[in-house]
Amino acid sequence: MANPLYDTLFGRYYGQDTVFLHLQDGRTVTHAAFLEQAAQFAHVFAELGAQPGDRLAVQIEKSPEALAIYSACAQSGIIFLPLNTAYTAEEVTYFVENSGARILICDGAKAEALGPVADASGATLETLNGDGTGTLPDKAQGKPTAFETMPCSADDLAAFLYTSGTTGRSKGAMLTQANLLSNAEVLADYWRFDETDVLLHALPIFHTHGLFVATNIALITGGSMIFLPRFDLDQVLADLPRATAMMGVPTFYTRLLGDARFTRDLVKHMRLFVSGSAPLLTDTHVQFEDRTGHRILERYGMTETNMNTSNPYDGDRRAGTVGFPLPGIELKITDAQSGATIPDGEVGQIEVRGPNVFKGYWQMPEKTREELREDGFFITGDLGMIDDQGYVQIVGRNKDLIISGGYNIYPKEIELVLDDQPGVLESAVIGVPHPDFGETVVGVLVAEPGATLDTEAVAAAVCQSLARFKHPRKLVILPELPRNTMGKVQKNLLRDQFGALFI
Ligand code: ATP
Ligand code: MG
Repeated sequence: MANPLYDTLFGRYYGQDTVFLHLQDGRTVTHAAFLEQAAQFAHVFAELGAQPGDRLAVQIEKSPEALAIYSACAQSGIIFLPLNTAYTAEEVTYFVENSGARILICDGAKAEALGPVADASGATLETLNGDGTGTLPDKAQGKPTAFETMPCSADDLAAFLYTSGTTGRSKGAMLTQANLLSNAEVLADYWRFDETDVLLHALPIFHTHGLFVATNIALITGGSMIFLPRFDLDQVLADLPRATAMMGVPTFYTRLLGDARFTRDLVKHMRLFVSGSAPLLTDTHVQFEDRTGHRILERYGMTETNMNTSNPYDGDRRAGTVGFPLPGIELKITDAQSGATIPDGEVGQIEVRGPNVFKGYWQMPEKTREELREDGFFITGDLGMIDDQGYVQIVGRNKDLIISGGYNIYPKEIELVLDDQPGVLESAVIGVPHPDFGETVVGVLVAEPGATLDTEAVAAAVCQSLARFKHPRKLVILPELPRNTMGKVQKNLLRDQFGALFI
């Protein structure tokens, strides 16, 4: 094939009047219209001098046009680099400089701030607004609606996707065409997607979840998406009746459960609910099943690898687990010091290998060497174990592991006990510096709406269930946990906030 990614996800629908996107205002976008616009964009990029292998960075609102840029990049052999819309101009400067982007496309409202950023790194700045207007679509007007696809091989880079930056500075993961395609194929098959599916898409498209997991599955199967700019509860409730499947971060599901309009009847026709990007609480899984009769399917992945494991479609979807390694992907649990594989049932670092695993971090050879072994295994930075039935359980991140007085303490174990206490909605356990123990445990609690928490009672309950060295030295109450746009708890912020409690 001339260009596997473009041909498989996009090109084969060229000229087809099938619906690809259902928009919030009732309009639809056909595959044909989408691909013609993408071809026009590709002409603009060529006119701007972009060559295969160049990087094109975007920081734009979610829109059909934003997605068409992804297609245009694939067709032109340009490396697509989407950026979180929340990043400040200062942060964008880092990504543009770091990636050496040739073109930067931003929202018109940010053009003034980002103009100097583009100038400084020699990138051309174009704009695309959430409503589809801007200098890019202006330049695309009247351009031919067909573009000669640039030949590429499966090993060519297709995207630089920056990690969420939950544990430190975001890293640019270099993903090849084969990385993206292999995962799309496996997931579409594992989750039984076909062209009749209508996927409710309320996720951002600058992150692997909304961009590659959700969108690539819809593209590879020829299905359609209800393409919403963001998760708006009223809108999602209004659209669920015409969807067959939905993908979300755990907060989508807790917000749906918090609304009385979310009933069994509303979703009885649905085929599948998928959750990922952050741990789904067992409580949410159980409540969801009680309310709707559906069991949420939880899966596990990351920017560097796309998806690695999934609960089964037909078998038992187990709360608190992320299921089995996907076909073609190997997963092992290893000892952090020796790197040796450790027995099932014991906690260690999660390593994965397969066609999904990225090529390394852009311009970070040392970091790449530290995390990507020569034999192809990627050290994910997550800790977990494989249970007696082969299900993978995630215990937390390596960086969140607490070492107190020489003991390893896994925050998740304590969080599960805290979450179980009456009146506790959720919790986060962190390690903070301590003069005697090196680190000690602090528990951050969020109360259920209307509940008043008695930290002494919670502490007493913890004493019943956990060994003494695991007891939080302090329990604090916050109105909510700090989360980033993907619903991930930002423990680094909590460590900053409570880091001086004992020193
Ligand atoms: P950074 O690498 O910059 O610190 P990040 O790891 O949060 O940020 P992403 O690649 O967006 O960036 O997220 C991947 C991580 O999300 C995984 O390594 C894992 O810790 C977490 N994750 C994803 N899915 C799940 C899940 N189902 N349950 C628990 N954790 C999950
Ligand atoms: Mg990470």
